[in-house]
Amino acid sequence: MSMSQLRADIIIRKCAILTMNGRDIIKRGLIAIKDGSIIYVGREVKAPQFEADKFIDGSGKIAMPGLINCHTHAAMSLFRSIAEDKELTTWLREVIWPLESKLKPEDVYYGTLLSCVEMIKSGTTCFSDMYFYEDMVAKAVAETGLRCVLSPGIIEAGQKFLGRLLLRKAVKIARKYHKDLGGRISVMLGPHALYSCSLQLLKKINEEAENLNVGIHIHLAESESDSTNIKNLYGKSEVELLNDIGLLKPNLLAAHCIYLSDRDIALMAEHDVKVAYNPVSNMKLASGIPKIKDLLDADVIVGLGTDGPASNNSLDMFDTMKFATLLQKIKYRDPRVLPAKKVVEMATIDGARALGLSNLVGSIEVNKRADIILIDAKKPHLTPIHDLYATLVYSARGSDVNTVIVNGKVLMEDRNIKTVNEYEILKKAEEKAQDLLSRSDASVRRLIKKFLT
Ligand SMILES: [Zn+2]
Repeated sequence: MSMSQLRADIIIRKCAILTMNGRDIIKRGLIAIKDGSIIYVGREVKAPQFEADKFIDGSGKIAMPGLINCHTHAAMSLFRSIAEDKELTTWLREVIWPLESKLKPEDVYYGTLLSCVEMIKSGTTCFSDMYFYEDMVAKAVAETGLRCVLSPGIIEAGQKFLGRLLLRKAVKIARKYHKDLGGRISVMLGPHALYSCSLQLLKKINEEAENLNVGIHIHLAESESDSTNIKNLYGKSEVELLNDIGLLKPNLLAAHCIYLSDRDIALMAEHDVKVAYNPVSNMKLASGIPKIKDLLDADVIVGLGTDGPASNNSLDMFDTMKFATLLQKIKYRDPRVLPAKKVVEMATIDGARALGLSNLVGSIEVNKRADIILIDAKKPHLTPIHDLYATLVYSARGSDVNTVIVNGKVLMEDRNIKTVNEYEILKKAEEKAQDLLSRSDASVRRLIKKFLT
């Protein structure tokens, strides 16, 4: 190294930095990014002199790791507000599943693009997606610049050939995309749930996942009636069944986990299973309230998810952070449960751990990839800031996010998306949603009141 200035691609200056690596918050900090990685983070006065192509003025802003959405079905944005305030079975069987049967790859592509735009605009830099046509999700991720864990969905629902076909497709996706796009994409296999996949199929999925060295992403113990049916059928809980067939392991990501016994929680802790907690969806579908405090007390790693935009109806992780803690406080009737700092950890570093990505992202530290968001703190609802974590969880909104960087690339600056044409995507997504409705059965259309703009 010469005595001249150090080279960086991007320098962010004069911002408060929430590193989420166990250190304190840095005031008047500086972050240097080169080749997609963080090469310096610390006080600006102590920083070496950097030369850079781009300087971002962070004064009045808070830099933090990009938010990580551990469980969603991005393309379901096309179903936003399509069938509201319905009982889960009616919602699924009479509206969502018939519509999904009409989905074309292009619908998934535009639905996912729409969600990617929404996620960038609300500070999510990485999402874990479970759906069909995950190659279309990969395409949307490639174009928008986000980071993603694809989980090609596998569902059997009594049709053996369908389960095997979807597993073959999922294996293909894993071979093609795992660690693709400079590490921005990784893959897990996505068996839908225990009530929609046989144990035989789940064993086969587990074998394939081990061969491919990828994780598994599943819905677990989401509904009381399905959990009871499983118990009546097998004489065991969902978690015990997964344990029997060797699926409880560190790279199992289990979404929801509402109906768990103490023994289930102990088993999950013993096998280091990861959990995705989706408070808004759990409330909206009246599924129930998971015992997150018990899981955390047992040292289970819990990340946060929005679930699909049709059961939320937003992908704003700030929203999810706030509900995540409020719902737990009510569950335990104790305002000390899930303090704000822990919630921010769940949305960043713990989310990265849940997705097996904590060596790459989840905190702002040297040698990690630069997935960083800047929040504009000069807002009435964010003034004054006595406790930064509380401000982020209880007061901030997705729309306070000003700048988004993923893998060292600026995806949004001053709220303008740089990688894709936001307005074009909104228009196309609206067209696709309309077209899907016109192709759907009359029985479905009768259940939908279309607001036409
Ligand atoms: Zn889900």
